Amino acid sequence: MKNITVIGSGTMGNGIAHLFAQFSYNVNLIDVNEAALKKAMETISKNLDRQVSKGILTEENKVATLNNIKIFTNLKDGASNADLVIEAASENLAIKLDIFKQLDEITPSHCILASNTSSISITKIASVTKRPDKVIGMHFMNPVPVMKLVEVINGYKTSKGISATIVELSKSLGKIPAEANDYPGFIANRILIPMINEAIYSLQQGVGTVEAIDTVMKLGMAHPMGPLQLADFIGLDVCLAIMNVLKNGLGDDRYSPCPLLVNMVAAGNIGVKSGEGFYNYLSGKKELVVAQQFKK
Ligand code: NAD
Repeated sequence: MKNITVIGSGTMGNGIAHLFAQFSYNVNLIDVNEAALKKAMETISKNLDRQVSKGILTEENKVATLNNIKIFTNLKDGASNADLVIEAASENLAIKLDIFKQLDEITPSHCILASNTSSISITKIASVTKRPDKVIGMHFMNPVPVMKLVEVINGYKTSKGISATIVELSKSLGKIPAEANDYPGFIANRILIPMINEAIYSLQQGVGTVEAIDTVMKLGMAHPMGPLQLADFIGLDVCLAIMNVLKNGLGDDRYSPCPLLVNMVAAGNIGVKSGEGFYNYLSGKKELVVAQQFKK
């Protein structure tokens, strides 16, 4: 495996491209949005600078890593020589189905088609290809160059050989893989997002303030970040979308999204990327804000 294509150059795509390029793979990074590609290269360069300043990489490693990445806006140009594609486009079923259908036509027959989806069914994605045995979930965590976990998701028809290849590949990139079967939310988000939803219910019902809820989970449970801060970091829109996948996919009302979460997304307060969620980030640092109705 030498040629890796990464589709989508947003939060996750730029991290995945960075990781593979750092490990000397030829990386083709594709996005429909040229501005997103430009921003991704700036982000990768900045993140490499941080690794150099920490002594993790040398200046030469940084230059070599950047040289290993080529950018494209066209799927055919960027994917026709791929040994492995990792799709990290927006979390939208129609977009992913369209991409995988095209990839099946464009890529060589040996190419493995992976998705970094947080919650969409790998089996459903695989069903639009003629190689469902070679379609798999390779779920990296944010920020990709730093976080150790890769959740490897086996679709209904993913072959054992392809699964073993992705497990070994993840290890060779310095990651620790954990395998999951293809059920809504897989392992990570089946457990994490309902916990975040419960934290938002606790706020809505006045059990505790934002600060108290996050402090309890940080100091009491040794979580590095409280659930409300983590929700801001993930994006409240993403949390809501995943709760809906769990509710629809598992058919159980206990996965209903908290009304406060629904309201905050409708109001556009979706966390770090919008400047405000449970905290405010506009000053460049995290400041406590509490929605009007929860002021104490
Ligand atoms: P993002 O919104 O930051 O980036 C998505 C990118 O995909 C955008 O730049 C967009 O222009 C591009 N895109 C959209 N349609 C495209 C197409 N047809 N072809 C090529 N590019 C296209 O999203 P993200 O947070 O990086 O998430 C990407 C994927 O990773 C999603 O499936 C998400 O669920 C998953 N994920 C996200 C996180 C996270 O913390 N953000 C963590 C794990 C997994």
